[in-house]
Amino acid sequence: MIANAQAVNPPLKTSVLLPVPLNTAFDYAYSAAVPLGTLVKVSFGIRVLYGVTWTSFESSSYKTLKPLLKVYDGVRLPDVSLKFIDWVSDYTMAPKGQILKMALPSPEVFEAKGEQLYGLVKAPKKMNPKRQKIIDFFEACSDPLPLSEISEQTDVSEGILKTLVKEGVLTLQGERPWEAPLPPPTQLPQKPQLSLDQLVASEDVKKSLESEAFHTFLLEGVTGSGKTEVYFEAIEWVLKNGGQALVMLPEIALSAQWLQRFETRFGFPPAIWHSDLPPRQRKSTYRSLFEGNTPVVVGARSALFLPFPDLKLIIVDEEHDGSYKQEEGVIYNARDMAVVRARFSNATCVLASATPSLETELNVSSGKYRHIILNDRFGGAEMPDVKLIDLRKIKMPPQEWLSPTLREQIGKTVNRGEQVMLFLNRRGYAPMTLCRNCGDRLMCPHCSVSLVHHKFRDTLLCHHCGHSIPQPKKCNSCTEEGTYSAIGPGVERILEEVKTFLPSARCAVMTSDHLTTSSKIADFVEKIQNHEVDVLIGTQIMAKGHHFPLLTLVGIVDGDSALSGSDLRASEKSFQLLHQVAGRSGREERRGQVLLQTHNPEHPVMQSLVQHNRAQFFALESDQRMLHGFPPYGRLAALILSGKKADEVEKAARLLARRFPLTEKAELLGPTPAPLTFIRGNYRWRLLLKTRKDFPPQPLLKAWLDKAPLPSSVRVQVDIDPYSFY
Ligand code: ADP
Ligand code: ZN
Repeated sequence: MIANAQAVNPPLKTSVLLPVPLNTAFDYAYSAAVPLGTLVKVSFGIRVLYGVTWTSFESSSYKTLKPLLKVYDGVRLPDVSLKFIDWVSDYTMAPKGQILKMALPSPEVFEAKGEQLYGLVKAPKKMNPKRQKIIDFFEACSDPLPLSEISEQTDVSEGILKTLVKEGVLTLQGERPWEAPLPPPTQLPQKPQLSLDQLVASEDVKKSLESEAFHTFLLEGVTGSGKTEVYFEAIEWVLKNGGQALVMLPEIALSAQWLQRFETRFGFPPAIWHSDLPPRQRKSTYRSLFEGNTPVVVGARSALFLPFPDLKLIIVDEEHDGSYKQEEGVIYNARDMAVVRARFSNATCVLASATPSLETELNVSSGKYRHIILNDRFGGAEMPDVKLIDLRKIKMPPQEWLSPTLREQIGKTVNRGEQVMLFLNRRGYAPMTLCRNCGDRLMCPHCSVSLVHHKFRDTLLCHHCGHSIPQPKKCNSCTEEGTYSAIGPGVERILEEVKTFLPSARCAVMTSDHLTTSSKIADFVEKIQNHEVDVLIGTQIMAKGHHFPLLTLVGIVDGDSALSGSDLRASEKSFQLLHQVAGRSGREERRGQVLLQTHNPEHPVMQSLVQHNRAQFFALESDQRMLHGFPPYGRLAALILSGKKADEVEKAARLLARRFPLTEKAELLGPTPAPLTFIRGNYRWRLLLKTRKDFPPQPLLKAWLDKAPLPSSVRVQVDIDPYSFY
């Protein structure tokens, strides 16, 4: 027999995972075996998608296979990334494809060696103002640029630019290599002399890095004790020895001061990763990280899924912070996943906090995590003096929220040339608007919540869906004119109050409404540092990380606000938040003071703040949780059902409850209407599954959900280890 030299090898079946919310890999045909995790391009329905080759964990039902459109030889997600995608999917019960999407946010960067540059070659046949803008732009600056940059600089959308490319007005004129990050300097700048505590702590972490074995540390110490300097030592180790470090911060947008500090310490800026990065920065960061050229990434939750080729160290700063829990899309806790990710890479994980979560405390006491403690504030700065103001004993005039003692201290502090921070976790002017005549309350039409009055913007706003209306002139119900009035305080109203008794003070409000971009935040922080503000009034965004040397008084307007509600962690979260806010006060040689207004002065949260006795509060809180089998002593998983029709959602919730498999290992709580029964036009019901610590709920949940087919009009969200209960 003569072999036909032209014969093609029979195509091989290749499974591909696509970044779509499905748990299935799809089969395609290709002439050669492709290593797992390789980037490929395929046609999927009418779309062309990027994906990665995957083990086929579920066989595809298609008989005739479509070919792979393109294989990107050598572009592979690291094996740990593949393992991590699998693990997170199994744990969170979110489809693998959705997790892949986080690991592969900008696959198009692998298309070319660099960014494609376009230039103008002729005038378009049709002309309009936008097109004219492009012509003018190129006449003034003739260099070819990427479409994204042309769009940024001219404010003409990329869609319009693409049409111009199709018409041949703009053509491809070259490529610009992906911007490589600045290499870190070989000589690191002078670093501070560590205290003995800091030295011991950092040696511990460095030993773990040297061992190349997985360890998790809790780095505990009050605000200002020098935790950041300790983990900077670990980062320095990575810079000297190779590999990558990831630092997770709860609110990267609020971290201008942190970034500045990093740059001063190391002489170069770290790469930043979060969901609002400009596309160009996102792409170049992704590409250089993938190639191992980015030694340090500072990011929000999503940075955890980046394909680090050689991750050695993960720092989770403020590990207790609730914003590590992603509540939409893939629902996961980035703090917990960070520990898992570190384990997969035999890396060292450092969880830093002044008020560690009960979960982490338990992992320390059971020996899973190692504990390092910094006992005092650095340089002998003292903890602030915390005093309670018992609101039950004070008759406050209507429309006033600052007690006489607090007012007096605000005045004294400002007169001494120091700064005051007033904390109230309520944006806007007033949380509620009622008709004085008939009691009608202005509600969001799409959500079961009050509209919040924002005076600066002169609107009433829903904080859940963004619905906004102008203040109505007449009551919707009794049609009386001018009867709607604001009930309760928001930060804007506190500002108004301060102006009444301290008209000369320079006041500023700090909330997410006013500080919408990181540059606005940085400007604002600078204003405070330059002492252009005397009284700063803000929400929790102010509680994080900032360090203002002149700030010596913190006034907490409503210390009870986070205590109520259906949240099992209400006390813990209250304590953490109030402690953190209090920690803003007096961080240098001036002793700070904290005045905390409360109706519950005997509450353990308040008492532990006054006595600086966190251990006592935590012991009490722990006992409560243990008694009820709540986390961290048991596990929870929530199911949230939602849909447009109230009766269908309720029926589905009840059906699901009836089909719950009887078992001693798990208990079903609910179904009940969610505390927020109606959000963004959807009715919501909740079920809560409680299991023993040694009984992971996922297999049970899977079997249960498979057994109870729900109508397609009802959406089910699985929230493993729920953190919010509304
Ligand atoms: P934490 O992270 O625990 O809140 P920081 O690391 O921010 O504490 O330290 C608090 C303050 O003390 C910062 O201003 C920091 O620059 C300073 N500091 C900490 N350690 C040192 C050190 N070894 N030498 C000089 N200053 C230090
Ligand atoms: Zn709404």
